[in-house]
Amino acid sequence: MDLQLKGKVVIVTGGSKGIGEGISRCLAREGAIPVIASRSVAESEQLAGELQDAGIPALFVGGDLSVPGQCRAVVEQTASRFGSIYGIVNNAGINDAIGLEKGGPDGFRSSLDKNLHHYYGLVHFALPYLKESRGAIVNVSSKVALTGQGNTSGYAAAKGAQLALTREWAAELLPYGIRVNAVLPAEVMTPLYETWLKTAFKDPEAKKKEITARIPLEKRMTTKEEIADMVAFLLSPRSGHTTGQWVVVDGGYVHLDRSIT
Ligand code: NAP
Repeated sequence: MDLQLKGKVVIVTGGSKGIGEGISRCLAREGAIPVIASRSVAESEQLAGELQDAGIPALFVGGDLSVPGQCRAVVEQTASRFGSIYGIVNNAGINDAIGLEKGGPDGFRSSLDKNLHHYYGLVHFALPYLKESRGAIVNVSSKVALTGQGNTSGYAAAKGAQLALTREWAAELLPYGIRVNAVLPAEVMTPLYETWLKTAFKDPEAKKKEITARIPLEKRMTTKEEIADMVAFLLSPRSGHTTGQWVVVDGGYVHLDRSIT
């Protein structure tokens, strides 16, 4: 299937590590132009350089998206380089374990800065370009929005709000033909996931085995490529009548009958 993404400029936040790296690479394979907005300088320079060497004019815009002004800077630099923006993939985030007892109101606010406010900021500043291109937005949320996790109020609130905003923006942007969808991963081995396993459990390997044994389809984690393929499809004009949807890409982990596992 030709996804018809050739030459389309797509901003991918956190686009050089984990799921974001998978998305940038997938988009590049489809001929799209990924703009990597990330604070991971070494990884982003490496990936952008690699894609440029392969003939894709990828751009890296460095900086922390939770800092005021950064979303505007990402959009301005993208627009001044390419003159158009077709897609936004809001993906950067961190499960920062701000719970009811740990963190307090300041920690909670800061967690929303890290996980939520830049999802809005980027779309706000990119909107004139998205209107012009009749583009698409994909918000990467999490199963935590549907299931909870415990001890992570800030992250859970942000992930739930991302789902609400997916519906809200899908409604608001109907007149412009801009589609908005969300992808919900559950268990994907990435640097973020590895850190969580290592810091939250005494025996990370045993915990990983326990989790994968409960994933209905093939008893394995989802790959970042499988998440990326869904994101690319939802960005693509080939999913042209799909908007406001939450797509859970997790091998049936969240929704299938417990008796199966
Ligand atoms: P990851 O491995 O940590 O990669 C995320 C990338 O985004 C990193 O380069 C990170 O930089 C960067 N980043 C994070 N916050 C940023 C900010 N404020 N400004 C600029 N760059 C920022 O994470 P991942 O596991 O791929 O997760 C990506 C998305 O998937 C997140 O929204 C996460 O909630 C969601 N998700 C993941 C899983 C999973 O199983 N992995 C499950 C459910 C949902 P640093 O390395 O400096 O943090």
